[in-house]
Amino acid sequence: DDVFAPPLDRGEFPILQRLVGRDGARPLVYLDSAATALVPERVIGAVERFLRTSCANIHRGAHLLAEEATDAYEGAREHLASFFGVDDPARVLLVQNATDACNLAAFGWGARVLGPGDVVAVAEDNHHANIVCWQMLAERHGVEVAWIPIDADGRLDLEAWRLLAERAPGLVALSAQSNVLGFAQPDLRIVMEEAKRAGALVMLDGAQAAGHGDVADFDRMPVDFYVASAHKMMGLGGAGTLVCSDGALERMAPVRGGGGMIERVDREGYVVARRPNAFEAGTPAIAATVAWSAALAMMEEAGLEAIRAHAGALAADAARRLAELPGVRLLGDAALPRESLVSFVVDGVHPHDAGRLLDDEGVMARAGHHCAQPLHRAIGVPSSVRASFAGYSTASDVDALVAAVARMTEGAARCA
Ligand code: PMP
Repeated sequence: DDVFAPPLDRGEFPILQRLVGRDGARPLVYLDSAATALVPERVIGAVERFLRTSCANIHRGAHLLAEEATDAYEGAREHLASFFGVDDPARVLLVQNATDACNLAAFGWGARVLGPGDVVAVAEDNHHANIVCWQMLAERHGVEVAWIPIDADGRLDLEAWRLLAERAPGLVALSAQSNVLGFAQPDLRIVMEEAKRAGALVMLDGAQAAGHGDVADFDRMPVDFYVASAHKMMGLGGAGTLVCSDGALERMAPVRGGGGMIERVDREGYVVARRPNAFEAGTPAIAATVAWSAALAMMEEAGLEAIRAHAGALAADAARRLAELPGVRLLGDAALPRESLVSFVVDGVHPHDAGRLLDDEGVMARAGHHCAQPLHRAIGVPSSVRASFAGYSTASDVDALVAAVARMTEGAARCA
């Protein structure tokens, strides 16, 4: 069991004490960290501390609490900058979630810089967050969305990409890791570098990868926009980031107007504040952003590489054992190293029924299209079951999953 010893202390996660399942007496097996990670005591404590001591609005007040709240909020921004390898915290825009970040890139940058005749290349393994905003940009600003297809195993089609690169796309939208395929695209780095050489900006969705320690060293990567969500990193819902390169940020315009984003307003108009405030109108999720920093600290203490290796090892073990069960088909190229999750279908069992059957046993996995319909279409299954692992997951979580799926396959064989 030692090789699977979790790098994060399970005692830190109070929710793991719950008993669930059909009879309400089974230990909670949480295999849905790819949707939202569990929240540790220290993050809960950070929220509580903030609410009990410095609960004030940021930036505008001249009193002690406002100063403390501002320091905590800006401290979280600085922490995010160092966590993601960004030398200037002003390039770390604080938004609501990864989806909000994608939309800010599309409408803050795309709508300003791109127009009819311009192409945005979108990878087919992207989450809807990194697809629909570009389709909306196309609809409203005459930009063309062109796809970088994936093959039946989920791998990006390098040849198709190279043909597309000849059309000089304005931006290439990619995922550091898909939330359905269990691997990081092996040719991702090549596509990013070729995209930069073709003159494109590169947008990398890190929402999934960052949750298990696969974190971009942003300033050293050929990336202009990087996206992450706090709730996938043991933080709270409501906080996310759009990290920008200098060049990208320079050409962006605010999408939302209001308080906090202006230098001055008069009857004639307004003058926009400097970065990053220009892009952060209104009162943000202050407590959630402050608490995000506590979650980052926990990941850093455990070691990002240790978390990544652990989640990958459990996912690989689960994949190997599930693949041995009759009637179970795994999604994605089995030869590639697993990152943090495994998606699969069970012959004769609809994924939603599979999700309910797992839930009966206290196993919380996810079933559906996982906000990745183009991906599912490309690999030829309408929906799937997904089990995802984190730094607090254990080998017995895998055992529970495999045992429950095995019972399901036996049931399906009886029905057939
Ligand atoms: N991208 C990826 C790869 C994701 O997995 C998710 C969440 N499922 C998102 C984007 C969207 O994140 P959020 O819902 O926090 O905006």
